[in-house]
Amino acid sequence: MIKTKYLKKLIVEPGSEVNLKEFPTDWLDTPEGKVVGKDFLKERSEEVLEESRKLLAEAQELLYASDTHSVLIVLQAMDAAGKDGTIRHVMAGVNPQGCQVFSFKKPSAEELDHNFLWRYMKSLPERGRIGIFNRSYYEDVLVVKVHPEWLGPGSPADPSDKFWQQRYEDINNFEQHLARNGTLILKFFLHVSKDEQKRRFLERLTNPEKHWKFSDADLEEREHWKAYRNAFEDALSATSTKRAPWHIVPADRKYVSRAIVADIITTSIQGLGLKYPEVSEEKLIKLAEAKAKLEGVAEK
Ligand code: AMP
Ligand code: MG
Repeated sequence: MIKTKYLKKLIVEPGSEVNLKEFPTDWLDTPEGKVVGKDFLKERSEEVLEESRKLLAEAQELLYASDTHSVLIVLQAMDAAGKDGTIRHVMAGVNPQGCQVFSFKKPSAEELDHNFLWRYMKSLPERGRIGIFNRSYYEDVLVVKVHPEWLGPGSPADPSDKFWQQRYEDINNFEQHLARNGTLILKFFLHVSKDEQKRRFLERLTNPEKHWKFSDADLEEREHWKAYRNAFEDALSATSTKRAPWHIVPADRKYVSRAIVADIITTSIQGLGLKYPEVSEEKLIKLAEAKAKLEGVAEK
């Protein structure tokens, strides 16, 4: 496991003003990273990921059996920061029946005809399950803050600060409602540098097996890097709460971001202190009877 004191540095303190420059995109740039060096970091990250995966599979079984909580994992990032790979690697050992992934794209006309939280509400994980939002209602204060013309009918052409404040407030209230009703909410911003994004785009353009990952829109959105960064800083500052904190995960090295996300999810589910349901006396008697019957009767 990664030491708590390091993980604490990744949490956005509720009420604080986020300046993304103060959060590393590469763990090797941190004082701790410099001490341990690249080889150790890679080895340790792979161990943590492996260990966390095993523990996550167990924690998920317990979540399902106890049937008292659900877990909502929110992943947000700039393009090519590694959201899909993180989901694939972190959830690799988990029973697919206990886990649902939803990837949110541009909203449909029907979705735009409802309140902005509607499509996400319909996809929330039921009790006992882990739900992963690959993009989420945060897009509704990120991509549309950069492109207000995509807000859809009924929205202002030039939204005021108050408009966004109200959306942050709606999101905080929504998350509070979920948390009060037994949902553990874990939010991750995969923090990638502009240089690393360029490297990954070039890889997508060069390697034929990765061509499909590149979209024409990717370069256009990269032009708005600064506007996205501001929108992220505003959203992270306004919506990190005690019950639904944001984690800013250094994402320039995939092995690091995967290990950190896996560790936080596992540790947080374990922190719920769940227990397998107790079997009643009555049920124990019934089980003993069934066993005796099965053992005593010769099968035809
Ligand atoms: P990808 O995840 O690469 O398949 O891209 C999905 C695209 O959908 C991204 O460009 C997102 O910005 C966009 N998208 C997701 N949610 C929204 C939203 N609520 N409004 C507008 N665009 C969105
Ligand atoms: Mg994309």
